[in-house]
Amino acid sequence: MPIDPSNVRMYVCGPTVYDFAHIGNARPIIVFDLLFRLLRHIYGPDHVTYVRNITDVDDKINARAAEDYPDLPLNEAIGQVTSKTTDQFHKDIAALGVLEPTVEPRATEHIDEMKKLIEKLVEKGHAYVAEGHVLFDVSSMSDYGKLSNRSLDEMEAGARVEVAPYKKSPMDFVLWKPSTGGEPGWPSPCGLEGVGRPGWHIECSAMAGKHLGEVFDIHGGGIDLTFPHHENEVAQSRCAHGTNVMANVWMHNGFLQVEGEKMSKSLGNFITIHELLETEKFGGRKWPGEVLRLAMLMTHYRKPLDFTVQGLEVAEKILNNWYREIGDVEFSETSDWELEIQNILSDDLNTPEAITRLSVFYDRVRTHEDSSASGRFKHAANLLGLLLNSRSEWEKKRSSLSDVDSGTVKELIAKRAQARAEKNWAESDRIRDELAGMGIKLKDSKDPETGEIKTTWEVAR
Ligand code: AMP
Ligand code: ZN
Repeated sequence: MPIDPSNVRMYVCGPTVYDFAHIGNARPIIVFDLLFRLLRHIYGPDHVTYVRNITDVDDKINARAAEDYPDLPLNEAIGQVTSKTTDQFHKDIAALGVLEPTVEPRATEHIDEMKKLIEKLVEKGHAYVAEGHVLFDVSSMSDYGKLSNRSLDEMEAGARVEVAPYKKSPMDFVLWKPSTGGEPGWPSPCGLEGVGRPGWHIECSAMAGKHLGEVFDIHGGGIDLTFPHHENEVAQSRCAHGTNVMANVWMHNGFLQVEGEKMSKSLGNFITIHELLETEKFGGRKWPGEVLRLAMLMTHYRKPLDFTVQGLEVAEKILNNWYREIGDVEFSETSDWELEIQNILSDDLNTPEAITRLSVFYDRVRTHEDSSASGRFKHAANLLGLLLNSRSEWEKKRSSLSDVDSGTVKELIAKRAQARAEKNWAESDRIRDELAGMGIKLKDSKDPETGEIKTTWEVAR
């Protein structure tokens, strides 16, 4: 149960904006968008606050800015990198049927909140100043490591990284560090001279605290963030606020790999959302965002996901079938089917089960169980952020992704109709084959009243 059902609160760690988001980054975006949709459905759209941040201060951004814009002053170059990358991110994920979060805070707009939190931690004896840095003192928290289930002794024994000499313990982590040269910086807290910038973890504690309060319902992100990022967020927030928990529920999505291998630039199988949607890099063609969404949701979010061309093909076939049945009709009524899907998703977001159930509903729609079936089916699928388009929008999208020129297709269909009228079956078959060679599938249907043959077409992949 939420702490306050009139305001269910969720925080999800968003992207660090220095490069195109890859398909692995799309997984938490899609998974937590699904949860956002489900919570809005259950508690009401005005009773859910979803905060997903943008990390726009980070050393990776600085490095990229210096590389891409060597002639600009660093702060201007950083502005270019972060605004360009943020715009691209928004464009990419909109194509995946993702709703905007309630708040999308940026780290650079919350520096004051971070500094206040850091000063509070020092005051309470949970952080210390050393050589221009402020560090969190892990020994000051008796259950540090609880979220990721590690003991401090084990972690210290396993710390192989070169430890900065000013740290009391190798596990102590940076809350604030000095900036030099052109590095981005703000006046430092805790009486430190000069300017500095925050460590990575403190931004999420500050933004979550500001927008959701000291304790909230759900915190999410990819499994790789459990340690150290989330462990350190918990440490900062709990110690600063004196609370027992930061969030009541932690949800982590499993990692995605590509065709059975870890996705990496060196293996040449690294793929961005943009490349998947707009280029022919994966499987030799472009893919609709909704196909990526369904393919992702076919695996339970906690499990590792193997992203394959075959998986996309399966998802696309399913969507083609589903769209064919729902047609272009607008339906307003909700349904018992929607409730069934809601119940399945409420059990730890069991999307594979929900999709299996939708396939059962689809079979019933196909056999025209009753006239309202299409509408009930569409509503149920909408809960997963699927079938949000009409059939024609979907078909338009698919044909725009292929290189097929619809003018040419129509011309050939007209020629074929002419050949058929002249009973020139050889020519009619030849045209059908020519279209098939272009990846076009024809469907002839007879008007029951006039007996006239009507030909429709689709891009058959
Ligand atoms: P990053 O920009 O690397 O901090 O990642 C942003 C989000 O994407 C985090 O929630 C990561 O856990 C998640 N993420 C990164 N790579 C993958 C992957 N291969 N599979 C699933 N999630 C990922
Ligand atoms: Zn975070």
